[in-house]
Parts: sequence; structure tokens; C-alpha cells
Amino acid sequence: MSIGAKAGKGIRCHNEALLRLLGKIAHQCGTRAFLVGGPVRDMLLDRFGPDIDIAVESKAQTVGKEIGRRVHGRFVFHSRFLTATVTLPDSSHIDITQTRTETYSRPAVLPRVKPAPIEQDLFRRDFTINAMALEITPFRFGYLLDPCSGQQDLKYKLVRILHPKSFIDDPTRIFRAIRFAIRLGFGIEPQTLKLMRQSIKSSYPSLLTAERILYELRLISSETRRLQMIEAIKREKLTRTCLDWSPPSHFLSKLKLLSSRTRNPELFFILILSNLPDTGNFPITKQERESARAINRFHLIHSRLMRAKRLSTIYRLLHPIPEPALQILSRIEPRAVARAINLYLNRLSSIRPTVTGRELRKLGLMPGPKYQRILDRLLYARLDGLISKEKEYNMARRLIRQKKV
Ligand code: ATP
Ligand code: MG
Repeated sequence: MSIGAKAGKGIRCHNEALLRLLGKIAHQCGTRAFLVGGPVRDMLLDRFGPDIDIAVESKAQTVGKEIGRRVHGRFVFHSRFLTATVTLPDSSHIDITQTRTETYSRPAVLPRVKPAPIEQDLFRRDFTINAMALEITPFRFGYLLDPCSGQQDLKYKLVRILHPKSFIDDPTRIFRAIRFAIRLGFGIEPQTLKLMRQSIKSSYPSLLTAERILYELRLISSETRRLQMIEAIKREKLTRTCLDWSPPSHFLSKLKLLSSRTRNPELFFILILSNLPDTGNFPITKQERESARAINRFHLIHSRLMRAKRLSTIYRLLHPIPEPALQILSRIEPRAVARAINLYLNRLSSIRPTVTGRELRKLGLMPGPKYQRILDRLLYARLDGLISKEKEYNMARRLIRQKKV
């Protein structure tokens, strides 16, 4: 489908009917609406992204709610950010944002936000290629607003900031510049590159909170060319400035190996965490923290694992390690170790003793530490093939009678 006669060229659009509907709903609610940022860039590049970003000049909440109702989506409003999100049944998103200006009181802090017309909203954005809007309200549907010459930079394949203070106001844009340049195969425009390097040299990225830096690393972890992005970050000394982290080349090889064996973004992110100097008070999940730590400490059990003769030994060594860490290690460790880990993941981890805790109680054992120790002994005996399922019950009875287990 082709829209955008006003844009001077036909824009191919895979979801024109939905966009027309969204524009109509906004119009009925009494506001203009625009497709903005990434989706406009991607449409002009003939790329496809599942998410839709809409900006409205007022009534973001009303418009969001109405869209949610009409497309049978789940609607959430974030009053602090004046943003509504509608999640569609196929789990793609429509974000509806109030057009705004942003002012930065200090470098690297979150900006103060004030409602403003679309023309001003486009000037608060990160790069020219992300500062375009396509009107979707009826009668002006397909009209492209491009006040910063984003189309031209798309043509010349350039990532360019909108004003010289951009990387000082918000140093996360440095991560973004690298990410977009590598994702799209673009260059960073020379003046932009110079200002980016100045911002890094002056340590502006170190003013960012850990939360915002980790968010950027998560985004990078989801990208197809994530490895190139991490290499660029290293080259530009970006994370050296803000995380005191410069990934060593042996670690880059591990990232590369993992990447060649799985696309999973979470595993890539955890492997990065495992190499960061101090994740102590980072806002990450317990599982991420423990997985990263386990990867870091894996060398401590490495030789014992290699020497393990019994399956119960492999089980005992690997059981305390969270599953994401094992998933990672099985892909980056040498073959013999990987085989032991896969054996654990695919077979050993799901084996359970047939005798249950309840049966132990029936046999007269009161709950306590001995309880777990007996269950463990039964399991290890099963793993090592010392007893059959049938004989487990007898063994349990014998262990209960023994004083020392
Ligand atoms: P993607 O395809 O990765 O989603 P995107 O361009 O949609 O790319 P988002 O992070 O989804 O990027 O942000 C949506 C839009 O919001 C961007 O296109 C840009 O116009 C604006 N934006 C996002 N982050 C910033 C920022 N740090 N500074 C200025 N503008 C930003
Ligand atoms: Mg987006």
C-alpha cells in the first residue's frame, strides 16, 4: 500500500488501515495524531517493526482508552509520562504519547516535560532520522513533517543529532547513536561523532544512573548486531567512563560464541553482567544477579566437574547454579564441560526420588534436617544407578533407622 502524497514520494505502509483507524479515533476525541519516531524512519527505509508510536497533541489518556476499546487491546496509562500503552492480542504495542517539550536542568538527569505542539516535539528528539512525524488524522493523512531533514540523512545514511548539547543533556543518546548506526548500517555524521567523543572525554556518561545504563545494555542485547555494538562501545571507551568496564578481548570471544549459538537477549545480557566489575547494587533481578555470580565463580568447580566419575557428583556441582547461567555455560565452555552441563540440564535435573517427604513422615521421621539429607541420599543413589525405583523405599527405611545420615 502506498500513502504520503504530500511526503513527495509514496511511502509503503504495511498497516495503513490500522493507522487510519487510529487517526480517526484521535480525531473523534478532538486531537491531531501522528505516527512518530522509529516507525516513520522504518517505513521510509522499507523496514518492518511491530510496534506503533503515536503522538497526539492532547488527550493522550482518552485516545489511548478509546483505542484499547476499539482494537480489543489492554490499556495502561502512565500519568507521570503522559503516555498510554495499548497491548494488542498478538502482544505488539501501540504507544500513545502527548506531544511535548523537554528541558534539562542538569546534564544526564531526566528532563522536565511540558505539553507542546508536534513541531516543537520533534525538536526534542535524539536524531534527525528519528525526528519525523507522519500525520494520520483524516484529511491530512500521510502528510510528513520533517523539520530536521531526516529524509536527507536517511538517504545519506547518517545518524545526526539535532543540537550541539544533545549528548550532554542526555548521554544515553551515545548508546543510541551507536545502536542505530550499527543496526541500520549508517555512519555517525562527523560533527555528531566529534561531539559524542567530547561528551565521553568529559565523562558525561558517568553522570547516568546504573539503571539507565543497564537499560541501554538490555536494548543492545536484543539487537542482531549486538556484538559489533559492544565492540564499538569498547572502542569509544563509553562503558569505561560510566561503568569502569572495558570488555577484555577474551570476554568478547565468549560473547561471540554465545551469540553464535543462541539469539536469546536475556542470556547475552547476563553474560555481560558477569563481566562487570561490580553489580552489587544494580537494579537487576535476583536471578540475573545470581546467574552472573555463578558464571563468575564457575572456574572454582571446573576441574571437579571434569574429574567427576559419578552422575551424582555432576548433579551436586551443578544443582546450585541457576538455569540461565547453565544455559550460558553450556554454550561457551569447552566441549567436555558443555556435555556434562547438557547432561544435567536434559536428564539429571528432572530426576526425583520416588519416595516423597510424606512417605518419610509415614515411616515415622519427623520433619527436620535429616529429612532433606535422606531425600538427597536417595536421589544420589538413584542417579548413580545404585538402587532401582523399587528398592528406594527399603533404603529410606534403612536410613531412617541409622543414627548418622
Ligand atoms: P526502535 O526501533 O529501537 O524502537 P525507536 O526510534 O522507535 O527505535 P524508541 O527508543 O522506541 O526508539 O524511542 C521512540 C522515539 O522517541 C525515538 O524515535 C526518538 O524520536 C525518541 N527518543 C527516544 N529516546 C530518546 C532520547 N534519549 N532522547 C531524545 N529522543 C528520544
Ligand atoms: Mg520504538
